Amino acid sequence: MTVQTAPQRISILGATGSIGLNTLDLIGRTPERFAVEAVTADSNAEALAELARRHGARHAVVADPDAYKDLKAALAGSGIEAAGGPTALIEAAVRPADRLMAAIVGAAGLAPTLAAAQHGTTILLANKECLVSAGRLFMETARASGATILPVDSEHSAIFQALEPTQKDCIERVTLTASGGPFRTWSRERMADALPEEAVRHPNWSMGAKVSIDSATLMNKGLELIEAHHLFGLEPDRLDVLVHPESIVHGFVAYRDGSVVAQLAEPDMRTPIAYSLAWPDRIQAPTPRLDLAGLGKLTFEQPDLDRFPALRLAIRAMRTGQGAATVLNAANEIAVKLYLQGRIRFPDIALIVENVLEKHSHEGGSEPNSLADALALDRWSRDVARSLIPEQLERTG
Ligand code: NDP
Repeated sequence: MTVQTAPQRISILGATGSIGLNTLDLIGRTPERFAVEAVTADSNAEALAELARRHGARHAVVADPDAYKDLKAALAGSGIEAAGGPTALIEAAVRPADRLMAAIVGAAGLAPTLAAAQHGTTILLANKECLVSAGRLFMETARASGATILPVDSEHSAIFQALEPTQKDCIERVTLTASGGPFRTWSRERMADALPEEAVRHPNWSMGAKVSIDSATLMNKGLELIEAHHLFGLEPDRLDVLVHPESIVHGFVAYRDGSVVAQLAEPDMRTPIAYSLAWPDRIQAPTPRLDLAGLGKLTFEQPDLDRFPALRLAIRAMRTGQGAATVLNAANEIAVKLYLQGRIRFPDIALIVENVLEKHSHEGGSEPNSLADALALDRWSRDVARSLIPEQLERTG
């Protein structure tokens, strides 16, 4: 066990979300090891102020400038600094702290997380979209500054734990498991009428709305493949997905001598979050313990790329390059939002992404080389996705 004097200071981007709250839960249980430096949210000022007070944060930021007045009022007399707007969000990300939990949802997390990477911060990375939309730039920035990136996604945490860095040349395959989501056994016809409330009801995990919909389409697994490609520097043909409905084995690394090293745990995000908070040490996490005899058996199957075309599109984008991944991510964010608003049907999510990718390819398939390029391509993709009329969407692949 590491001997520690003062508690480590942790900042949390996206503190009011599912990952943020789980992180604060763990920090609250180990005050001798961790203290909260800064917390951020988008517009949820009241919840953020309550969390900042409860956990003794020094600084709280809302990204939405309109929510600043409410945050300031809610923190009056607490001694906690309040700020609002995109610049304040970046300042919170680069504020001195021992570790930064990056748990904003979507590409909105890219600018602050990249700023932290530029500062050489140790980043606990939950915000997979930021690696999908600018993975090459992000990893190059982290390498140049010496920033350490610790994965939070359970599958990537599993691979990080199973992968022996000195044996990278000995890897044959890296496999991410997928629960298959709530529609694993549904026919294509039944999925066509799936309601948002059915799609967010994940069988094993409790998560925010966007990642829950991504799990239902299997886009989440596609985003995770792209995330793994960048995080571990692995070629696309060494990465694959296996559906594992019990969500007990989170990922595994197959080596050339025939060994397969896996990580297992009950599906509870507090396990990978605890690992990232304490690495290279381990802390106590209040999660259910694995009872393999009680489970009896674990099952695995190939993903069905016909019923879940979003995964096929993400694999194709990973093989095509960074521009396609940026476009895929942004179009998917818009499509998920439209679906949650009841404006499109479930299969339209993948169709919108497919149509925007097709347009990007027809127009030359631009590749972003800077943050400005990535943000411009992200905006272009969102605009195209919003302009598509569901009735006119075509399946091109
Ligand atoms: P939630 O939707 O639960 O929370 C998102 C957080 O980000 C909230 O604090 C929200 O603030 C904030 N936020 C939203 N939009 C913006 C914005 N434009 N600018 C700044 N902050 C913003 O998401 P999750 O916690 O589920 O997911 C977070 C990330 O972690 C995602 O990338 C997801 O893919 C990844 N992840 C999540 C897992 C999970 O179990 N939940 C598992 C593995 C990865 P506000 O409350 O004000 O809206």
